[in-house]
Amino acid sequence: MAVKHGSTAKRTLLAFDFDHTICEENTDIFVLRLLEGKELPEEISVLRKTAGWTKYMQAIFEFLHDQGIGGDAIRAHMQRAPLVSGMVEFFQHIRLNRDTYDCIIISDSNSLFIWYILHYCRLEDIFPSNSVYTNPARLDEDDCLRIEYHHQNSTCRMSADNLCKGRVLEEHMDRFHTQHSQHYQSIVFFGDGMNDYCPSTRLGTADYVAARKGYKLLDKINQDPAKVKAGIVPWTDGKDLLNFIHNFEKSL
Ligand SMILES: [Mg+2]
Repeated sequence: MAVKHGSTAKRTLLAFDFDHTICEENTDIFVLRLLEGKELPEEISVLRKTAGWTKYMQAIFEFLHDQGIGGDAIRAHMQRAPLVSGMVEFFQHIRLNRDTYDCIIISDSNSLFIWYILHYCRLEDIFPSNSVYTNPARLDEDDCLRIEYHHQNSTCRMSADNLCKGRVLEEHMDRFHTQHSQHYQSIVFFGDGMNDYCPSTRLGTADYVAARKGYKLLDKINQDPAKVKAGIVPWTDGKDLLNFIHNFEKSL
Protein backbone atom coordinates (compact mmCIF):
# COMPACT_ATOMS: atom_id res chain seq x y z
CA MET A 1 0.00 0.00 0.00
CA ALA A 2 1.30 3.46 -0.85
CA VAL A 3 2.55 5.51 2.07
CA LYS A 4 0.42 8.58 2.74
CA HIS A 5 2.27 11.87 2.38
CA GLY A 6 2.10 13.41 5.81
CA SER A 7 4.39 14.82 8.44
CA THR A 8 5.39 11.35 9.66
CA ALA A 9 5.68 9.62 6.26
CA LYS A 10 9.24 8.72 5.34
CA ARG A 11 10.21 9.95 1.92
CA THR A 12 13.05 9.15 -0.44
CA LEU A 13 14.67 11.70 -2.73
CA LEU A 14 15.46 10.62 -6.27
CA ALA A 15 17.89 13.17 -7.76
CA PHE A 16 18.66 12.88 -11.46
CA ASP A 17 21.24 14.29 -13.79
CA PHE A 18 19.63 14.84 -17.23
CA ASP A 19 22.07 14.35 -20.15
CA HIS A 20 23.01 10.67 -20.63
CA THR A 21 20.90 9.83 -17.57
CA ILE A 22 17.27 10.65 -18.46
CA CYS A 23 17.98 11.77 -22.03
CA GLU A 24 20.24 9.46 -24.03
CA GLU A 25 21.92 12.44 -25.66
CA ASN A 26 24.04 15.30 -24.37
CA THR A 27 21.48 18.00 -25.16
CA ASP A 28 24.14 20.70 -25.77
CA ILE A 29 25.83 18.48 -28.35
CA PHE A 30 22.50 17.38 -29.82
CA VAL A 31 21.46 20.98 -30.59
CA LEU A 32 24.56 21.35 -32.79
CA ARG A 33 23.05 18.90 -35.29
CA LEU A 34 20.84 21.80 -36.36
CA LEU A 35 23.94 23.17 -38.10
CA GLU A 36 23.87 20.10 -40.39
CA GLY A 37 27.65 19.74 -40.44
CA LYS A 38 28.45 23.44 -40.75
CA GLU A 39 31.61 24.21 -38.74
CA LEU A 40 31.50 26.57 -35.81
CA PRO A 41 33.66 29.68 -36.32
CA GLU A 42 37.02 29.48 -34.53
CA GLU A 43 36.18 32.41 -32.26
CA ILE A 44 33.25 30.39 -30.89
CA SER A 45 35.14 27.08 -30.61
CA VAL A 46 37.89 28.62 -28.45
CA LEU A 47 35.33 29.88 -25.93
CA ARG A 48 34.86 26.35 -24.65
CA LYS A 49 38.33 26.54 -23.08
CA THR A 50 38.76 30.27 -22.57
CA ALA A 51 35.33 31.24 -21.21
CA GLY A 52 33.79 27.98 -20.00
CA TRP A 53 30.97 25.77 -21.22
CA THR A 54 27.98 28.03 -20.49
CA LYS A 55 29.42 31.04 -22.32
CA TYR A 56 30.45 28.75 -25.18
CA MET A 57 26.84 27.54 -25.42
CA GLN A 58 25.54 31.12 -25.38
CA ALA A 59 27.76 31.91 -28.36
CA ILE A 60 26.44 28.81 -30.14
CA PHE A 61 22.84 29.90 -29.53
CA GLU A 62 23.65 33.32 -31.00
CA PHE A 63 25.29 31.61 -33.99
CA LEU A 64 22.18 29.44 -34.50
CA HIS A 65 20.12 32.62 -34.40
CA ASP A 66 22.41 34.23 -37.00
CA GLN A 67 21.80 31.18 -39.22
CA GLY A 68 18.05 31.80 -39.01
CA ILE A 69 17.45 28.92 -36.57
CA GLY A 70 14.91 30.19 -34.03
CA GLY A 71 13.02 28.88 -31.04
CA ASP A 72 10.49 26.76 -32.92
CA ALA A 73 13.21 24.90 -34.83
CA ILE A 74 15.22 24.33 -31.66
CA ARG A 75 12.16 23.05 -29.80
CA ALA A 76 11.14 20.67 -32.61
CA HIS A 77 14.71 19.37 -32.83
CA MET A 78 15.20 18.88 -29.09
CA GLN A 79 11.96 16.91 -28.89
CA ARG A 80 13.57 14.33 -31.17
CA ALA A 81 16.25 13.62 -28.54
CA PRO A 82 15.57 10.09 -27.26
CA LEU A 83 15.21 9.12 -23.63
CA VAL A 84 17.46 6.41 -22.22
CA SER A 85 15.90 3.01 -23.01
CA GLY A 86 13.43 1.87 -20.35
CA MET A 87 13.08 5.28 -18.70
CA VAL A 88 9.37 5.63 -19.51
CA GLU A 89 8.67 2.35 -17.69
CA PHE A 90 10.93 3.35 -14.81
CA PHE A 91 9.13 6.67 -14.37
CA GLN A 92 5.76 4.96 -14.63
CA HIS A 93 6.71 3.00 -11.51
CA ILE A 94 7.79 6.22 -9.79
CA ARG A 95 4.49 7.86 -10.84
CA LEU A 96 2.52 5.03 -9.22
CA ASN A 97 4.51 5.51 -6.01
CA ARG A 98 4.69 9.29 -5.94
CA ASP A 99 3.65 9.38 -2.29
CA THR A 100 6.97 7.76 -1.45
CA TYR A 101 9.33 9.69 -3.69
CA ASP A 102 10.38 13.26 -4.33
CA CYS A 103 12.06 13.67 -7.73
CA ILE A 104 14.41 16.44 -8.77
CA ILE A 105 16.73 17.10 -11.72
CA ILE A 106 20.13 18.74 -11.25
CA SER A 107 21.57 19.42 -14.68
CA ASP A 108 24.11 21.56 -16.49
CA SER A 109 21.85 21.65 -19.57
CA ASN A 110 19.27 24.44 -19.49
CA SER A 111 15.66 24.96 -18.45
CA LEU A 112 14.28 25.21 -21.99
CA PHE A 113 15.88 22.02 -23.34
CA ILE A 114 14.80 20.06 -20.28
CA TRP A 115 11.27 21.45 -20.39
CA TYR A 116 10.93 20.72 -24.14
CA ILE A 117 11.91 17.08 -23.60
CA LEU A 118 10.03 16.47 -20.34
CA HIS A 119 6.88 18.02 -21.80
CA TYR A 120 7.13 16.05 -25.04
CA CYS A 121 7.72 12.79 -23.13
CA ARG A 122 4.92 13.61 -20.67
CA LEU A 123 7.17 13.55 -17.65
CA GLU A 124 6.37 17.04 -16.41
CA ASP A 125 4.13 15.57 -13.69
CA ILE A 126 7.20 13.79 -12.28
CA PHE A 127 9.32 16.93 -12.56
CA PRO A 128 7.33 20.16 -12.15
CA SER A 129 9.37 23.27 -12.93
CA ASN A 130 10.28 23.93 -9.28
CA SER A 131 11.96 20.52 -9.10
CA VAL A 132 14.38 21.22 -11.97
CA TYR A 133 17.67 22.84 -10.97
CA THR A 134 19.53 23.95 -14.07
CA ASN A 135 20.80 26.98 -15.96
CA PRO A 136 17.81 29.26 -16.61
CA ALA A 137 17.14 29.84 -20.32
CA ARG A 138 14.62 31.81 -22.34
CA LEU A 139 13.98 33.02 -25.86
CA ASP A 140 14.55 36.76 -26.10
CA GLU A 141 12.44 39.23 -28.12
CA ASP A 142 14.50 38.39 -31.23
CA ASP A 143 13.88 34.62 -30.76
CA CYS A 144 17.48 33.99 -29.67
CA LEU A 145 18.07 31.53 -26.83
CA ARG A 146 19.62 33.15 -23.76
CA ILE A 147 21.19 31.12 -20.95
CA GLU A 148 22.42 32.17 -17.51
CA TYR A 149 24.45 30.49 -14.79
CA HIS A 150 22.41 28.54 -12.25
CA HIS A 151 24.61 30.14 -9.61
CA GLN A 152 28.15 31.42 -9.22
CA ASN A 153 30.36 28.67 -7.81
CA SER A 154 33.66 29.83 -6.40
CA THR A 155 34.21 27.27 -3.64
CA CYS A 156 33.83 23.75 -5.08
CA ARG A 157 36.86 22.78 -7.14
CA MET A 158 35.16 19.64 -8.41
CA SER A 159 32.47 21.71 -10.17
CA ALA A 160 32.25 24.33 -12.91
CA ASP A 161 31.79 28.08 -12.28
CA ASN A 162 28.08 27.98 -13.07
CA LEU A 163 26.86 24.96 -11.10
CA CYS A 164 27.96 22.88 -8.13
CA LYS A 165 25.52 19.97 -8.09
CA GLY A 166 26.56 18.98 -4.56
CA ARG A 167 25.61 22.43 -3.27
CA VAL A 168 22.23 22.29 -5.04
CA LEU A 169 21.55 18.83 -3.60
CA GLU A 170 22.43 19.90 -0.05
CA GLU A 171 20.35 23.08 -0.32
CA HIS A 172 17.36 21.01 -1.51
CA MET A 173 17.83 18.59 1.41
CA ASP A 174 18.05 21.51 3.87
CA ARG A 175 14.84 23.06 2.51
CA PHE A 176 13.03 19.73 2.87
CA HIS A 177 14.26 19.46 6.45
CA THR A 178 13.07 22.99 7.26
CA GLN A 179 9.65 22.51 5.65
CA HIS A 180 8.90 19.01 6.94
CA SER A 181 10.92 18.79 10.17
CA GLN A 182 12.42 15.52 9.00
CA HIS A 183 15.21 14.27 6.79
CA TYR A 184 14.82 12.08 3.74
CA GLN A 185 15.10 8.46 4.80
CA SER A 186 17.30 7.84 1.80
CA ILE A 187 18.64 9.65 -1.27
CA VAL A 188 19.42 8.11 -4.64
CA PHE A 189 21.49 10.15 -7.07
CA PHE A 190 21.41 9.04 -10.71
CA GLY A 191 24.18 10.30 -12.99
CA ASP A 192 26.97 9.61 -15.41
CA GLY A 193 29.45 12.48 -15.71
CA MET A 194 32.32 14.08 -13.82
CA ASN A 195 30.07 16.88 -12.56
CA ASP A 196 28.01 14.19 -10.80
CA TYR A 197 30.97 13.25 -8.61
CA CYS A 198 30.62 16.18 -6.16
CA PRO A 199 27.04 15.29 -5.13
CA SER A 200 28.05 11.62 -4.92
CA THR A 201 30.66 12.45 -2.26
CA ARG A 202 28.06 14.25 -0.14
CA LEU A 203 25.78 11.24 0.40
CA GLY A 204 25.75 8.91 3.39
CA THR A 205 25.60 5.19 4.05
CA ALA A 206 21.79 5.03 3.75
CA ASP A 207 22.01 6.53 0.25
CA TYR A 208 22.87 5.29 -3.25
CA VAL A 209 24.70 6.58 -6.30
CA ALA A 210 23.40 5.04 -9.51
CA ALA A 211 26.42 5.58 -11.79
CA ARG A 212 25.96 4.71 -15.46
CA LYS A 213 28.29 2.03 -16.84
CA GLY A 214 30.74 3.20 -19.49
CA TYR A 215 30.76 6.84 -18.34
CA LYS A 216 33.20 8.92 -16.28
CA LEU A 217 31.38 9.04 -12.93
CA LEU A 218 31.70 5.30 -12.34
CA ASP A 219 35.40 5.35 -13.35
CA LYS A 220 36.05 8.25 -10.98
CA ILE A 221 34.31 6.51 -8.07
CA ASN A 222 36.22 3.30 -8.73
CA GLN A 223 39.55 5.15 -8.52
CA ASP A 224 38.99 5.70 -4.79
CA PRO A 225 35.81 3.93 -3.63
CA ALA A 226 36.31 4.98 0.02
CA LYS A 227 35.53 8.59 -0.86
CA VAL A 228 31.89 7.73 -1.61
CA LYS A 229 29.99 6.39 1.41
CA ALA A 230 26.76 5.69 -0.49
CA GLY A 231 26.07 2.31 -2.08
CA ILE A 232 27.13 2.22 -5.73
CA VAL A 233 24.64 0.96 -8.31
CA PRO A 234 26.16 0.57 -11.78
CA TRP A 235 23.45 0.68 -14.45
CA THR A 236 22.94 0.74 -18.19
CA ASP A 237 19.27 1.48 -18.81
CA GLY A 238 15.89 2.07 -17.20
CA LYS A 239 15.35 -1.67 -16.81
CA ASP A 240 18.37 -1.83 -14.49
CA LEU A 241 17.03 1.15 -12.55
CA LEU A 242 13.62 -0.48 -12.21
CA ASN A 243 15.27 -3.65 -10.84
CA PHE A 244 17.25 -1.52 -8.41
CA ILE A 245 14.22 0.40 -7.20
CA HIS A 246 12.24 -2.84 -6.66
CA ASN A 247 15.10 -4.18 -4.52
CA PHE A 248 15.41 -0.84 -2.74
CA GLU A 249 11.71 -0.89 -1.84
CA LYS A 250 11.98 -4.45 -0.49
CA SER A 251 14.88 -3.34 1.74
CA LEU A 252 12.87 -0.57 3.47
MG1 LIG B 1 25.07 13.64 -17.63
